[in-house]
Amino acid sequence: MKRNILLNPGPATTSDTVKMAMVVPDICPREEEFSRLVKSVCRDLLKVVNAPESEFAAVLFAGSGTAAMDAVINSTVAPGGKIAIIINGAYGERMLKIAAAYKIPYIEINFGAGGKIDIGRVETILSENRGALTAVAMVHHETTTGILNPAKEIGVISKKYNMAFILDSISSFAGVAIDAKEFNIDFMMSTSNKCIQGMAGVAFVICRKAALEAVKNYEKRSFYLDLYDQYAHFEQRGESRFTPPVQVIYALRRALDEYFIEGGPNRFKRYEKNWKTLRAGLLNLGFRLLHDEKDESKILLTVHEPPDPNYDFKKMHDYLYALGFTIYPGKMNLLKTFRLANMGDINSEDINNFISALSDYLKSNDIKL
Ligand SMILES: *Cc1c(COP(=O)(O)O)cnc(C)c1O
Repeated sequence: MKRNILLNPGPATTSDTVKMAMVVPDICPREEEFSRLVKSVCRDLLKVVNAPESEFAAVLFAGSGTAAMDAVINSTVAPGGKIAIIINGAYGERMLKIAAAYKIPYIEINFGAGGKIDIGRVETILSENRGALTAVAMVHHETTTGILNPAKEIGVISKKYNMAFILDSISSFAGVAIDAKEFNIDFMMSTSNKCIQGMAGVAFVICRKAALEAVKNYEKRSFYLDLYDQYAHFEQRGESRFTPPVQVIYALRRALDEYFIEGGPNRFKRYEKNWKTLRAGLLNLGFRLLHDEKDESKILLTVHEPPDPNYDFKKMHDYLYALGFTIYPGKMNLLKTFRLANMGDINSEDINNFISALSDYLKSNDIKL
């Protein structure tokens, strides 16, 4: 199969074995055999973040990552309660839009796209709104810019003020070390097609069981994306509430096997090496990067566009795309940037090949940096 190097932040490049895992005999998802498969996937998703089965549960939804964000936001804010939403990019903004769509009262704590989260300011606002606020939501790796936000610190503060802690770990799960207990996670979301290196189509939420039981009788704001009902149905019957993306779950099973064969620490090291290679290669060509090295997720870089009039993102994209490399535009106020993710089944040799293709593009179009 042709191997494309996807430098967009998900869906990521997958191994051929993950692709092939989708080719299975047809099966009705209400069969016990399939139920066992789903249970094993849920168990192993917990293992990725050291979440003990006695305290945590994984809930799967058919959908993209946003389905998991929607389910968590609409299902976990107490009646009469409010949610604090910490924002420093488009994915934080998305949580706010979801809350607004359901008319859930929220407090916005916004540091601007690309801004750094000021932990002290967050604590002041949580403390001032004690009693009214029942939940705090933030993005771990803000994929709009490539910054890694201080999830553990905010988790500890949320606990201190007795608020449910919600973490969008969609682009950090299986890409950086996360310990669900240490981070005081109540609900964390991710998806099958980013750092876990499976196919697109499954969104999941890792829930602290006590927090999940607490939301059981909250007002239902969505029928399809109700977190507790989705959980309870599978718990009680061993069957998904609605049709699951069967083949994508087989691929996720295989992707989890490959994660454990590689080992979490080795995966994080491979991503880090990809990131270092990419960073050094770009700086060497003369590009400027958005963030300081110490703030970066090591999974994605935001790169300033060259000021040269010969530069054109679309032309650069098409040139690289023809060679099997997919790059990604910037977002929000960062439109004069482009983004490169180093997640997925790729290695530093792929990154070096990308850098030399990029160098060829710059030279052949006489673009100066
Ligand atoms: C990818 C991503 C999402 C979800 O995007 P979908 O297109 O719905 O899969 C949400 N949050 C973050 C941080 C992401 O990187």
